[in-house]
Amino acid sequence: MKAKFLKVRCTGCGNEQSVYSHASTIVRCNVCEKTLATPTGGKAEMKGIVIGAVEQSG
Ligand SMILES: [Zn+2]
Repeated sequence: MKAKFLKVRCTGCGNEQSVYSHASTIVRCNVCEKTLATPTGGKAEMKGIVIGAVEQSG
């Protein structure tokens, strides 16, 4: 599966931020530092609410 950025909403504060689908490190919310994604070795496991993919040009 092609790697991409996902729009993820934090379940703690509602902040929305882009998270790399194959993040190799734990991704935390920029606002409250709640964990949004954890690495699994492949596709990261999303802990927040995935709203959709971030459209990328090119
Ligand atoms: Zn948050």
